[in-house]
Amino acid sequence: MPKRLASTATLALEDGAGETQPRRAAVLLPLPLAGAYDYLVPEGLEVEPGSVVTVPLGQRELFGVVWDLLPDDGRAASDGGGGKVLPLERLRPVIGTCPVPPLTAVARRFLAWVSDYTLAAPGAVLRMALSSPSALEPPRPVTLYRRAERPLPSELRLTPARRRVLEEMAESPARPLAEIAAAAAVGTSVVKGLEKAGVVEAVSVLREARFAAPDPERSGPALSDSQSAAAAALRQTIAADAFSVTLLDGVTGSGKTEVYFEALAAALATGRQALVLLPEIALSAQWLERFEARFGVAPALWHSDLTSAQRRATWRAVAYGNAPVVVGARSALFLPFPDLGLIVVDEEHESAFKQEDGVPYHARDMAVVRAQLGGIPAILASATPSLETLNNVKAGRYAELSLPERHGGARLPEISLVDLRSDKPPRLETPGGGQAWLSTALRAAIAETLDAGEQVLLFLNRRGYAPLTLCRACGHRLQCPNCTAWLVEHRLAGRLQCHHCGFSGRLPRNCPECGSEGSLVACGPGVERLAEETRVLFPEARSGLMTSDTLTGPDAAADMVRAVQQHEIDLLIGTQIVAKGHHFPQLTLVGVVDADLGLFGGDLRAAERTYQLLHQVAGRAGRAERPGRVLLQTSEPEHPVMQALAGGGRDAFLAAESEARREAGLPPFGRLAAVILSSPDPGQVDAVAAALARSAPRQPGLTVLGPAPAPLAVLRGRHRRRFLVKASRGFRLQAALLPWIQAIKPPSNLRLQVDIDPYSFL
Ligand code: ADP
Ligand code: ZN
Ligand code: ZN
Repeated sequence: MPKRLASTATLALEDGAGETQPRRAAVLLPLPLAGAYDYLVPEGLEVEPGSVVTVPLGQRELFGVVWDLLPDDGRAASDGGGGKVLPLERLRPVIGTCPVPPLTAVARRFLAWVSDYTLAAPGAVLRMALSSPSALEPPRPVTLYRRAERPLPSELRLTPARRRVLEEMAESPARPLAEIAAAAAVGTSVVKGLEKAGVVEAVSVLREARFAAPDPERSGPALSDSQSAAAAALRQTIAADAFSVTLLDGVTGSGKTEVYFEALAAALATGRQALVLLPEIALSAQWLERFEARFGVAPALWHSDLTSAQRRATWRAVAYGNAPVVVGARSALFLPFPDLGLIVVDEEHESAFKQEDGVPYHARDMAVVRAQLGGIPAILASATPSLETLNNVKAGRYAELSLPERHGGARLPEISLVDLRSDKPPRLETPGGGQAWLSTALRAAIAETLDAGEQVLLFLNRRGYAPLTLCRACGHRLQCPNCTAWLVEHRLAGRLQCHHCGFSGRLPRNCPECGSEGSLVACGPGVERLAEETRVLFPEARSGLMTSDTLTGPDAAADMVRAVQQHEIDLLIGTQIVAKGHHFPQLTLVGVVDADLGLFGGDLRAAERTYQLLHQVAGRAGRAERPGRVLLQTSEPEHPVMQALAGGGRDAFLAAESEARREAGLPPFGRLAAVILSSPDPGQVDAVAAALARSAPRQPGLTVLGPAPAPLAVLRGRHRRRFLVKASRGFRLQAALLPWIQAIKPPSNLRLQVDIDPYSFL
């Protein structure tokens, strides 16, 4: 375990009379196990807390951030040096500063806070903030072209193309070659020719990326009364210029986005930056179109699919205040905003905001922390807020604004249950035995909808063709060689895949266990298999498949969304990625093929998540004039989740779910942490787990459960054991965990991960 930072406070010394410049700097390095290390600030080098510097480490040169500056009074600035305080003359000097603004005090306090909360090493958290190392290097010069200041030589042959270029360049500042050529509708060689002739000159300049400023004055749509009231309340939080959290709780289609756009406009009008976190940026094409329609320009984007050049440009633009609005995935929280004035977390209940690997953190929770440290408002938007957030509203910590109706009189869809125990899907009349998953009731509803010229969405949260492949002769099940998981058949790709480690192989002809030929059969449905069934039942319908396998990249997703919007598709089949935020006006029927999927399994939030996901999916139906309906196929029609969905009784469901959590002492009424050990060697992981069990903290208010093999007992070839730590709400969990896990010195191939507030129990 890493050393903690000695002090997260900034000890900037005053440069008073007689005092010398502090020469000892604690520099935090973006390494997974590092705290800060002491370095010498050479005479003449100006650094301040937050400065990004290069320092030597062993044979390497690394970027780091000056965390503290201390006078040389024999104390170490950091405690990363193993407790020894090296005298100044033995310290290695800082090599230089990077040409970027220093990280602000708020940004540094945020990194330290995240590190303290997650128990991840400060260096691991810093690494998320310095996620684009090339952004720390000086900007590269670009070559621009402009009209040279001299008259046209008489011998210059003025072709029409050359004339256009010269006209184009007459009054304008230096511009890139390609831009001039495009504007004058000529090839770049024409411009180059003019350069040779001496009438155009190339200049080399350093240019910082800059995102065009959204125009807060542009007016949005006329808001309804309830929308206006909510927008006014949000603008009030901006005017208050202080920390606040507001839940914007509105049914799907109520106009939450339009309403928080008003808050964005208000924040932009004050000249500060704004950050919007979305759970899945790749699926947000419609959101981006609306932003552009509202503000006239595109926002800066931040997500994992950016090229490194885009990352570099965006990171620098944010750092220099040249990106007024950033829309990003959770990691955007760690961008170096100099003057952030508002954070919006849309779909705040989404589990995609929880980062599972590296430093496990929940972006919604950390967004609230970032807002608090910065003294700014945060807005959490959802149609199905998390119990955590609702509990904070109830306790008076968060304000709440409600939008109870869909915009423009669109009605919420009518949701009914199909009991699969009595309405068993009839077999298909096809050669292969014809297993089917659509009940008579759902088939009839699909046929009616298609006949009416409207669109259908069938939702099944299972990628691929079949979740399991089984040998009919010996019962063998095809399993991932690296994980405790079945292989999923992806028939379109002709592969078997493990959804946990990415293993992929061909479907064998013979059973690998007993050698029988042609004995392997697909069990259960995936979306590909469902598509096969709909092709048999509705051969005329144009169908489309929307899963992470078919939509690779943001463009494919945007194309698919457009195709559905333009009604080039009648029947859409999709996994959870169709659930999120899309607005399909002609879609009037949603069929949930297996509503029970996800209801069971060892996840404390299973019911809540199922409710949220199905509610979200249901919200895709009937978003315009035509009313929508939703059919949920379930074998558990009495389950509180199904009852709440069908009866619209969200409050009753939440009350029951809250009560169950409160009684069990589970979040949000109690605290949880997971400690996960993994190693390629099962003996080793068991030995370390046993040692940890012996030294587990014993304190009133704290229970340590485990170790137990994780449900995913082997993942990527590593054997996994879990502890679950339960504590009462006010308990200082981190303080109890830290000495426990720091006391063990794990062997090098054993990994110990602490997950505070776990969302995954696999
Ligand atoms: P939510 O985020 O609550 O699901 P949206 O903000 O996406 O709702 O709004 C749903 C649809 O209604 C969108 O197409 C949006 O443009 C439209 N809409 C919402 N409010 C208005 C309004 N005041 N005027 C015009 N269109 C609106
Ligand atoms: Zn077999
Ligand atoms: Zn696997």
